[in-house]
Amino acid sequence: MRVTRLERNVNIAAVVLPFLGVVVGGVLLWNNFLSPLDLAIMAVMYMGTAIGITVGFHRLLTHRAFETHAPVRYTLAVLGSMAVQGPAIDWVADHRKHHTFTDEEGDPHSPHAGAGAGLGGTLRGLWHAHTGWLFSTHGQASSKRFAPDLLADPGMRRINKAFPLIALASLGIPFLLGLGLSGGSLVAGLSALLWGGLVRIFLVHHITWSINSICHFFGSRRFDLDDKSTNVFWLALPSLGEAWHHNHHAFPRSAFHGLRWWELDPSGWLILGMARVRLAWDVVRVTPERERERLAQARPAVETPAA
Ligand SMILES: [Zn+2]
Ligand SMILES: [Zn+2]
Repeated sequence: MRVTRLERNVNIAAVVLPFLGVVVGGVLLWNNFLSPLDLAIMAVMYMGTAIGITVGFHRLLTHRAFETHAPVRYTLAVLGSMAVQGPAIDWVADHRKHHTFTDEEGDPHSPHAGAGAGLGGTLRGLWHAHTGWLFSTHGQASSKRFAPDLLADPGMRRINKAFPLIALASLGIPFLLGLGLSGGSLVAGLSALLWGGLVRIFLVHHITWSINSICHFFGSRRFDLDDKSTNVFWLALPSLGEAWHHNHHAFPRSAFHGLRWWELDPSGWLILGMARVRLAWDVVRVTPERERERLAQARPAVETPAA
């Protein structure tokens, strides 16, 4: 089943509109039109929706890295939906499919599978992994096969169905915040809509997609995995820890993607904080023994010199 014309057009709009927002934003910025209020609203919206993706869609809903109360689970699912990367159940199905077929035929967004050889093939693969897949393989993973647990949850089905409304709210909320906090200035509302809405969606989109493209291409590896996943330190903070993506492929269920103290992982810290106040429990951790086992597999056995 291919994406329908409507889905394709919606995806094109969802990619192009935030990009146009960045262009308009750049021009306005040039004219000193980015107020501290815009920045504050953008930061809050960025953190809220990025956490919705990393802690909500990814670590909780896709990988069940921890347990939480139903209202927290639904709140995270709504926040993730506000990142405008598709409805929760579709996102989870696509991502579980990515883990099932990583960097092979069937992976919805591998930069390696089927892109061809040479520089042209490399660039085509990276484009497909970063954005191109939204127009071809996005939302195609069967949710019956890959996300039956979420399909069985009526609350999650409702959030899934409400995705278009939540996406609109993702623009409406910064507008109302700008309008309200400026004391009713329409210009401030529109400016907040631009920065806290479109530009923020653009940023969260491209950081998330960088995990699919850059973190399967550049960067370092530690474990002996069959895929091509990598850890990319400079993406760690903006991605809230998701850029330790090679660690994540080694231990998909771990609530923590950073495995060393210097592997900054704000999403993992948030889950730790939630566990401390009993908002999270059954937090999945990688024991040092398990990690050592994987590392030992990764190191080639020392050959004994022939006597
Ligand atoms: Zn991956
Ligand atoms: Zn994952």
